[in-house]
Amino acid sequence: MLDQLQQPVKSGADQFDGQNFDLVVIGAGIAGLNALNAATEYLPKGARVLLLDQKDAAGGMWNTAYDYVRLHQPHPMFTVGNMAWDWRKPRDYLAARDEVQSHLASSLSPVGQSLRLQTAFGQTVSSLAEVRTDEGTMAKIVFHANDDQSETQKVHAKQAIHAPGLNYGLTTPLQFSSDNLVSIIPQDLRATLQAHPHAPVVVVGGGKTGMDTVLATLAFNPARRVILFQGRGTNFLNRTKYIPTGIKRWTSGELVSRLFRDMALNFNGDNEDEALAHFRRNYSTDPGANNGVFLYGLQSEQEHTKIKSGVEQAVSDYLEDVVETPDGQQMVLRSGQTMPIDDGAIFVNCTGSFFRDDTLADYQPILSPEGCILSINARSAFHFLTSVSGFFATHLWFRNALRGQGFYTLDQEGLFRQNRNAWVGASAAQAYMNQVIAVQTLPLMLLDRCGLDLDRWYPFPRRMLGLMRMKSTAAADIAHCRRTLDRIADRFDVEAAPLA
Ligand SMILES: Cc1cc2nc3c(=O)[nH]c(=O)nc-3n(C[C@H](O)[C@H](O)[C@H](O)COP(=O)(O)OP(=O)(O)OC[C@H]3O[C@@H](n4cnc5c(N)ncnc54)[C@H](O)[C@@H]3O)c2cc1C
Repeated sequence: MLDQLQQPVKSGADQFDGQNFDLVVIGAGIAGLNALNAATEYLPKGARVLLLDQKDAAGGMWNTAYDYVRLHQPHPMFTVGNMAWDWRKPRDYLAARDEVQSHLASSLSPVGQSLRLQTAFGQTVSSLAEVRTDEGTMAKIVFHANDDQSETQKVHAKQAIHAPGLNYGLTTPLQFSSDNLVSIIPQDLRATLQAHPHAPVVVVGGGKTGMDTVLATLAFNPARRVILFQGRGTNFLNRTKYIPTGIKRWTSGELVSRLFRDMALNFNGDNEDEALAHFRRNYSTDPGANNGVFLYGLQSEQEHTKIKSGVEQAVSDYLEDVVETPDGQQMVLRSGQTMPIDDGAIFVNCTGSFFRDDTLADYQPILSPEGCILSINARSAFHFLTSVSGFFATHLWFRNALRGQGFYTLDQEGLFRQNRNAWVGASAAQAYMNQVIAVQTLPLMLLDRCGLDLDRWYPFPRRMLGLMRMKSTAAADIAHCRRTLDRIADRFDVEAAPLA
């Protein structure tokens, strides 16, 4: 019976209109799936649950990301709840896009064994609100098939979890004055490299997508000319050092929570550039460089060397245009400089996927006024990683322990748009502080079931020692992080406040 109920419902279906559910989850990415997995522990067996998503399958952005994207952390730490990966690959293997998508999607099966889970893919939720009904306060959800806005369905739920992700959509090719070139998005890289085997590749953007694109291009043909526009330059956390393999898991590296503590304590709400320089010197793959940005990406020393030696030129500037001149085709940089570029060169738009729209997303509090909607969003966020928010915020919500414990929410998007380095410091302070409070609030057995915890890379005795150290400095660390976040709220007029 339960298996039958798990059949995905396709566009145009009207099976749900007018129905009531115990829980509706909107968004089947890693955040929504972690939230659903956590909720399963609290809902009674057989509770009615509906999972809605615009995509055709669970897995969120891993359904549509470029095909050469890989996890930048070891695959065991990218999961749903405590679900192990169904294979025997080395622990440090970095899973590929389709592997990630199918791992995430496989998390639905165990949920379906204890709940009456129904899924509706290919559906867009157009409104979510807390409303008064004869049965008490409920969440009202209105949705329609992606391709048919005229026929909406309306359902009610005792509780709803909103996990729409960070609006990761497909980018578009960059527009240039010259058309004597090939302008593409990463999703078209492989086909374009094949079609233009001798064209140089210009990678526009120095973040994770840019690095993935350089590596994929060089893997295709190590002799290909690659030019990288890296703007202010991005720092990456040194995976070789901080996620060491073999015996080094016992003898070197550092728990990731310790690293967050160090970042948090080095930031006081005012010194973001200094705090970033501290991070770069101590934790990045390129401590001697002057890279100005950190977006929580990880990189191995080997990847760093490959990129450095394989790229013909790494330009610390921004590409504004490509024009044709009597002297040949030229790239025009923000600094006003120009650089010649071959006719037919391939330009790949790796300028980033998050918060690229001109407008700030609408504000939505993490909890609705009556508390029946939990929203995993970037304006009132529990953690900068939506996956971690999905796990912890849901457990705390069901335990009635989200409010009043001292957890802070942070307007990650509002701060990111104003000052990226302040965002790094503040998000580290918030992540560390909320982790310490979670350790004080939740049972150890539950904390140990969070498969996303990067500390789990290290052997159990090291983790236990880390936990003891965390507890011994908890009060002073929390006080520091609070002061930092209060200062952020004052300076930038963004939400950085206790969940009261
Ligand atoms: C290129 C790239 C590489 C990354 N690599 C890593 C990595 O290696 N490690 C890591 O930890 N993180 C990585 N990230 C960060 C990544 O965003 C998260 O890991 C995570 O997958 C995001 O999960 P999510 O559930 O929040 O969002 P999503 O995966 O985007 O899922 C949200 C879902 O909500 C659905 N949805 C949204 N609005 C509606 C609506 N109105 N109606 C119905 N459905 C809706 C969407 O269709 C989507 O399926 C990467 C991000 C990008 C862009």
